[in-house]
Amino acid sequence: MKVLVSVKRVVDYNVKIRVKSDASGIETTNVKMSMNPFDEIAVEEAVRLKEAGFVGEIVVVSMGVAQSQETIRTALAMGGDRGILVQTDDEMQPLAVAKIMKNIVQKENPELVILGKQAIDDDSNQTGQMLAALLGRPQATFASKLFLKDNRAVVTREVDGGLETLEVRLPAILTTDLRLNEPRYASLPNIMKAKKKPIDIILPSALNVDITPRLTTLKVTEPPMRKAGIKVADVHELVAKLKNEAKVI
Ligand code: AMP
Repeated sequence: MKVLVSVKRVVDYNVKIRVKSDASGIETTNVKMSMNPFDEIAVEEAVRLKEAGFVGEIVVVSMGVAQSQETIRTALAMGGDRGILVQTDDEMQPLAVAKIMKNIVQKENPELVILGKQAIDDDSNQTGQMLAALLGRPQATFASKLFLKDNRAVVTREVDGGLETLEVRLPAILTTDLRLNEPRYASLPNIMKAKKKPIDIILPSALNVDITPRLTTLKVTEPPMRKAGIKVADVHELVAKLKNEAKVI
């Protein structure tokens, strides 16, 4: 069985985001970039399925600038087998990513596609759902537990009121939630081995897919600064302030 995993190159989650002075977006020059954390979880899950004997091949796909190869290499060092980079300097919105993924899925025919539930840069939470709709395949989003049996995936999802368990027929689309697993760090020997694993580089134009952005960002601004708090002497003063100033009780 083949699994396709998507990995997006995003600003590292530890970096304090800075807004560009012209409010057109966030600063990415000289900023540390890493694999989207939910995609690390997706790669880890695919590797665990391979280690458990369910999966024969893991194909790692990324769309973006040439440096996204590094993100693919990280996934290969974690245990992926080969990579596909759809290389472009253009902005890739979820619908464009989903259309390209659809094209690749139709060529590769994986039984399982695992994406992150959201990319931490755009926070869209759309690509997996769009891909499932475009392909007409079952989807199980926000997976926090997964096991495979009899050509089906049993997926536990974190929903508002608790946990929901779904069974979907394969081939299917899955998106990962935070508690699905804890991704491994790639070992040095595996990082070295990953350098030899193949990465196909293709251009969006070769796929005949319309990737024109559908949304325009008008401006990006910092959240308003929070006002400094004050210390109150005792509970009586707190209650008085909540009643008379904040007017919340
Ligand atoms: P989003 O819908 O943008 O929040 O992204 C959800 C998931 O789609 C991510 O966690 C990735 O697995 C995948 N994805 C989105 N954009 C890309 C990209 N440019 N390259 C590879 N995967 C992507």
